[in-house]
Amino acid sequence: MSRLVLATRNAHKVTELRRILHDAGTDVELLGTDAFPDVPDVPETGLTFAANALLKAHAVARATGLPAVADDSGLCVDALNGMPGIFSARWAGRHGDDTANLELLLAQLADIGPEHRAAHFTCAAALALPDGTEHVVEGRLTGTLTDAPRGTGGFGYDPILRVDGDSRTTAELTADEKNAISHRGKAFRALAPIIAELVTRDRG
Ligand code: IMP
Repeated sequence: MSRLVLATRNAHKVTELRRILHDAGTDVELLGTDAFPDVPDVPETGLTFAANALLKAHAVARATGLPAVADDSGLCVDALNGMPGIFSARWAGRHGDDTANLELLLAQLADIGPEHRAAHFTCAAALALPDGTEHVVEGRLTGTLTDAPRGTGGFGYDPILRVDGDSRTTAELTADEKNAISHRGKAFRALAPIIAELVTRDRG
């Protein structure tokens, strides 16, 4: 069976993509970068989600000699011209401090009424082959920012994005409900047929 590496050490992301590839009938063995201890962490130096996803996918494809998938995601707020965007994980200054990031964003938007609180999660998912071939796709989940956090599920900005067409935030959805509509689920599902085609081509 062909092997494919997902550029992440997050086991949940590996499980999610594995399930999407399986549902799409794609016959590949998906591994996380944990299976390759020598793969270096890749700095996200790009200025777009797509650029960062491609950087990571190419670096992992080069380091492993296998096709690689990488994703990059974040929250884009209309009233902030698309920020935090690629800076979502470090908006308050320290990488991965979800509570500080969310509190800073709510404080910045304190005077902004509900009619101007549109926002979306975006995810770029990239596939790179060791020969340099590349593909990148994007998925979005649109909604409106709440005034205060609601719900205990998910991570990051989930407690403050109320989903369009739903009264709940993404932190109030079950994991399956979120995966079905999420930016990452959409991007991975859009990439699945491209992975299937390249795997078939490689075998042929
Ligand atoms: P990364 O793509 O894993 O680097 O995620 C970047 C950052 O975007 C995370 O640290 C979160 O702050 C935010 N983010 C991305 N996806 C989600 C999501 O599904 N829910 C909440 N926050 C998210």
